[in-house]
Amino acid sequence: MKGLKPVDVIIIGGGPAGLAAAVELYRQGITDICILEREHHLGGILRQCIHDGFGLTRFQETLSGPEYAQRFIDQVEEWGISYVTDTTVIEVTADKIVYASSRKGLLEYKAKAVILAMGCRERTRGALSIPGERPSGVMTAGVAQSYMNLQNKLIGKEAVILGSGDIGMIMARRMTLEGIRVKAVFEIQPYASGLPRNVEQCLNDYGIPLYLSHTVTDIIGRERLEGVMVSEVDGQMKPIPGTEKTWSCDTLILSVGLIPENELSLGAGVILDDRSRGPIVDDSYQTNVPGIFAAGNVLQVHDLVDFVSMEAESLAKAAAEYVRIKEKENYSESCILEVKTDENITHTIPQKISGARDFKLSMRVRRPLKDCAVELVQNGRLIQSKKMKKALPAEMIQIQVKSSLLDKKGALEVRVIC
Ligand SMILES: Cc1cc2nc3c(=O)[nH]c(=O)nc-3n(C[C@H](O)[C@H](O)[C@H](O)COP(=O)(O)OP(=O)(O)OC[C@H]3O[C@@H](n4cnc5c(N)ncnc54)[C@H](O)[C@@H]3O)c2cc1C
Repeated sequence: MKGLKPVDVIIIGGGPAGLAAAVELYRQGITDICILEREHHLGGILRQCIHDGFGLTRFQETLSGPEYAQRFIDQVEEWGISYVTDTTVIEVTADKIVYASSRKGLLEYKAKAVILAMGCRERTRGALSIPGERPSGVMTAGVAQSYMNLQNKLIGKEAVILGSGDIGMIMARRMTLEGIRVKAVFEIQPYASGLPRNVEQCLNDYGIPLYLSHTVTDIIGRERLEGVMVSEVDGQMKPIPGTEKTWSCDTLILSVGLIPENELSLGAGVILDDRSRGPIVDDSYQTNVPGIFAAGNVLQVHDLVDFVSMEAESLAKAAAEYVRIKEKENYSESCILEVKTDENITHTIPQKISGARDFKLSMRVRRPLKDCAVELVQNGRLIQSKKMKKALPAEMIQIQVKSSLLDKKGALEVRVIC
């Protein structure tokens, strides 16, 4: 252990999840904390989200991304919570040793608890296997956003967007405002994959057409992108021969999904859920590795940052309890109850519950549904039900569950009745 710096909690990632966790831990009396952030500034992805619409649930007002992050950064500064930027965590072990590469060289910590808050990454062209050349001008929506909002660079003159994820739609509006002609958004599914408010405010308000059941099937251009071939797709999302049309453009923005950052989690022995693609956690947001917790986009892709910070605050309360009481025994919650879902639900967080504490159950539906109810059932008994006029894959559903309603045995089943 020589050379390792002992610390109560290491937080990996200084985005909204990491910051909210740090502030809440401090509030809970755990002050020996260190946030490790690979970028030069704290704030995470919010730094490049200069549009407003953040914070309605958490702060009851609408803030830009940087304003939202700053609320937590100010608290971190005021309380003197320690953080190191320009520092990339390169390894976490199951016994909570954390190695990070910094400007000062290798940093090595031995933590009582580790909070994974590394966010997620965007799916790229490689993940979609679009055929064609490899010209410049093809980039993910987040990269385009970073070029425009952080580096003040204009990325092209005429753009098309593949995928109707929220980041792509927000970039459709942003590019239009900066003078780039956005010709269309193409979505392979028969419905938009982002939030309805973004379809209205970012596409319809600017006259940008959204073509559902369409995808890009070829990329044209050698040095710089010159155009894309677009085809209609059938019910199995296969391109329909004879429907190909060429769209000239010098920029193709990909907004085709986000994937939790998993490398560090896997290295620490954290078991992942192939449905959420993030770690499997219990109702204290603890992974299968005692003392390693996860929240924010590293756990599940969120559409609203308020859900991220509130998730991280719940995590911090449990992590504080772990550091105060349970760490000495390498305690892992004896989660006896599994959460099972029917085919309408993609995944839930948490996936396991102790039955001992109240918790928030988050989930998404697989496809748009109308006039339905999400039901929680245990041992054939209806525990709770949430009626909805509509349920969309883009909108995370959350249900607060009281432990007093649960039996000590028997999986919790989540089903959708339409
Ligand atoms: C374009 C866009 C638009 C959005 N618009 C809205 C909106 O209008 N309203 C809303 O509520 N939400 C919006 N969101 C969602 C919200 O911004 C995210 O849900 C939230 O930022 C996720 O927080 P996080 O802390 O989990 O991850 P992030 O914000 O991604 O932070 C993760 C941090 O971890 C750091 N990190 C990663 N790996 C390492 C490592 N190995 N070592 C050290 N540091 C590491 C990263 O540098 C980053 O700073 C938007 C998101 C995007 C991308």
